[in-house]
Amino acid sequence: MGELRVRSVLVTGANRGIGLGFVRHLLGLPNPPEWVFAACRDPKGQRAQELQNLASKHPNLVIIPLEVTKPASIKAAAASVGEHLKGSGLNLLINNAGMLVYKTLDAETQEDMSQVYATNTIGPLLLSQAFLPLLKKAAQGSPGSGLSCSKAAIINMSSYAGSIQDVYLWEYGQALSYRCSKAALNMLTKCQSLGYREHGILCAAFHPGWVKTDMGGTIEDKTRVTVDVSVRGMLNVISSLSEKDTGTFLDWKGKVVPW
Ligand code: NDP
Repeated sequence: MGELRVRSVLVTGANRGIGLGFVRHLLGLPNPPEWVFAACRDPKGQRAQELQNLASKHPNLVIIPLEVTKPASIKAAAASVGEHLKGSGLNLLINNAGMLVYKTLDAETQEDMSQVYATNTIGPLLLSQAFLPLLKKAAQGSPGSGLSCSKAAIINMSSYAGSIQDVYLWEYGQALSYRCSKAALNMLTKCQSLGYREHGILCAAFHPGWVKTDMGGTIEDKTRVTVDVSVRGMLNVISSLSEKDTGTFLDWKGKVVPW
């Protein structure tokens, strides 16, 4: 697998966990992107301190305010990214922001179902719609006919927990709203791959592994991976994706995950 070469990337939920890992790795590439847009809810707040430190050292890092459940915030983010890009397109949109609520089948509520679905499923839908013109522009501006992530792509951060065929870690937590939201995100990814192929945009869903982040929790398990291992793996896989991979669900090692 080769090294990822992209001109511009946007990562949502970029202030901690896997999103921050993506930003760090992208900035550290031998040929880093010209623009890394790191979207987070509160760019000036304490929770974005690490991003602010990185931005002070990397002029190609731009922190963008974004609350993925608010359409006005999504529109403003797309407009701001468009202004920075000055007429060129966005190559890679990584819909990473997500939330997890642990509730059992019996205890699940309407409020949690709605909030988690709004964040994990509707957010990526609206983000992709808002950034579509910039993604199309990137695809049009790249030579060659095939699909690739260096041309134009949407990567949706899903989870094995959304797999219907192989229900993952049920004994660890039922997490109803989370599982349903990620199963729906997988379907969204498939639909996006069908709808956006003609625009030259590759779409794929990823399972990042069971990663040591706030969301990943503190349970010791030999299958758990660090943010670095997960992100390095995903970037490797992302760099190698082509036409045949659009509409697929892959893990951080590039292995196909059952829907
Ligand atoms: P974290 O909980 O560590 O980080 C979640 C990120 O999403 C934070 O930056 C958070 O921002 C942001 N976020 C949450 N809600 C919103 C919102 N409404 N608007 C904007 N940003 C928001 O999670 P991880 O880094 O572990 O997970 C990243 C992705 O990977 C998620 O989609 C998750 O479902 C997926 N995943 C993770 C696994 C794991 O083991 N960790 C396993 C499988 C999938 P803030 O700081 O403001 O809350």
